[in-house]
Amino acid sequence: MRQCEICGKTLPDEDFSKSYKKRCKHCVAEMTREKRSQIVHPVLTEEPITFPFNNSEAYWRTLRHEYAGRLLVGIIASGRFTNLSSPKGKEDYAKIAVSYADTLIEELKKSESHE
Ligand SMILES: [Zn+2]
Repeated sequence: MRQCEICGKTLPDEDFSKSYKKRCKHCVAEMTREKRSQIVHPVLTEEPITFPFNNSEAYWRTLRHEYAGRLLVGIIASGRFTNLSSPKGKEDYAKIAVSYADTLIEELKKSESHE
């Protein structure tokens, strides 16, 4: 029998995590679930983005960057834009992507505040 350092319950050894020896399996599972819910795996980068404060400015700013990136991929992948190689074309598409991201964020904020 051992005591879990998180929940304080005294439990049999087999109920303890193998990787966190002082924590019961239930608490480790709970922590893993919480950790996962804070991480979004963006399409464009290998690095997971952590969302520390739900609905904060940092949260929306991160979403804005993520959406702009995804929108730009969509714009390019659509094949409907032909001057992708010109600097002006690139700048225009980047601006379109950012402007759609801004609009999307504004709409999301509106619907959040109505909930
Ligand atoms: Zn526990």
